[in-house]
Amino acid sequence: MPIYEYNCRQCDHEFETLIMRQGEKIECPECGSAKVKRLMSGFAHKSDGKMVSEHSGCTSCSAGSCASCH
Ligand SMILES: [Zn+2]
Repeated sequence: MPIYEYNCRQCDHEFETLIMRQGEKIECPECGSAKVKRLMSGFAHKSDGKMVSEHSGCTSCSAGSCASCH
């Protein structure tokens, strides 16, 4: 399943979400706004440190990313 990265135009919050099906309504988890913009290539620019799963030192991450737990 594809994971897309979004940026909220309302509060400028960035988040990732799993798209179960096309046309799904995306809302910002911070402010609940639907004014979100999909960013290109969700993983590419996060690969330099944050997304390293082998030795991230974080045990509370279940989403494969430390972006939400630090
Ligand atoms: Zn927002």
